[in-house]
Amino acid sequence: MAGEPRSDCLFCKIVSGEVPATVVRETETTVAFRDINPQAPTHVLVIPKAHHADAAALAAAAPDVAADVLREAGEVAAQEKVAETGYRIIFNTGAGAGQTVFHAHAHVLGGRGLEWPPG
Ligand code: IMP
Repeated sequence: MAGEPRSDCLFCKIVSGEVPATVVRETETTVAFRDINPQAPTHVLVIPKAHHADAAALAAAAPDVAADVLREAGEVAAQEKVAETGYRIIFNTGAGAGQTVFHAHAHVLGGRGLEWPPG
């Protein structure tokens, strides 16, 4: 069922504490933790605690939680002090776009120059 934890999902295991993570923020509906393979000085992932496969599925099933994820991405940027210099919020969606973990997550990247278009 949409939103239910999945035993085969890495990010559900981070939510439950089964897999450790460096958590920087947590709310009732979201967790933000440092990416294990950072691509910028600030690279934090913001996820819904409930399991949804990607950002579009999250927005369709739980728009309030999708808004929570976006708001938390902004709070992470402020907390990490990258809000003033600029940062990027990225939802890779689908394997062809580089999504490797199929539990919705926003990448918050900042602290260095960011090229456009992205690779
Ligand atoms: P995607 O490629 O957009 O799906 O992003 C998945 C992200 O999860 C990648 O940037 C990985 O480096 C990151 N990642 C994978 N395993 C872990 C972990 O155990 N802790 C934190 N980040 C992880």
